[in-house]
Amino acid sequence: MSDRAPTRPDDRAASRRPVRPGDALAGCLVHDLRGKLRDAGLRPTRQRVALGWLLFGKGHRHVTAERLFEEAGTARVPVSLATVYNTLHQFTEAGLLREIAVDGAKTYFDTNLDDHHHFLEDGGDTLVDIPAGQIEVGRLPEPPAGMVIERVDVVVRLRRA
Ligand SMILES: [Zn+2]
Repeated sequence: MSDRAPTRPDDRAASRRPVRPGDALAGCLVHDLRGKLRDAGLRPTRQRVALGWLLFGKGHRHVTAERLFEEAGTARVPVSLATVYNTLHQFTEAGLLREIAVDGAKTYFDTNLDDHHHFLEDGGDTLVDIPAGQIEVGRLPEPPAGMVIERVDVVVRLRRA
């Protein structure tokens, strides 16, 4: 994450902005991440920051615990699969991730918290965002007494034509 080379005009403008002392780390991913975790009520431990860096450092994505565990191994972040599971669930409960159960056995964690649905491709291995507005859910069942509908996740399964 050392690539801070200004490539777009707005980046150049941002780098010309006078930097105040307390501002020195603004824009640094790890610094932002610590703030994001604190804001969500989570102590920014080394493991949470490391996993958060893998999760949130590459734009929106859908990741399983197993995949993130592999990435952590590649990035030499010493965590167990159980810690990865726990951290993903803590992030989800804190509102930093959205959990999408695709099959009984497979759960994806989505860094995109906007209202959207998903295509499921490659025999269940790849989730792709469908923007909100492209699916209209016409009729919903009456929820059981004492319950409200929190949200509706639509997964559209694809196969080769
Ligand atoms: Zn998504």
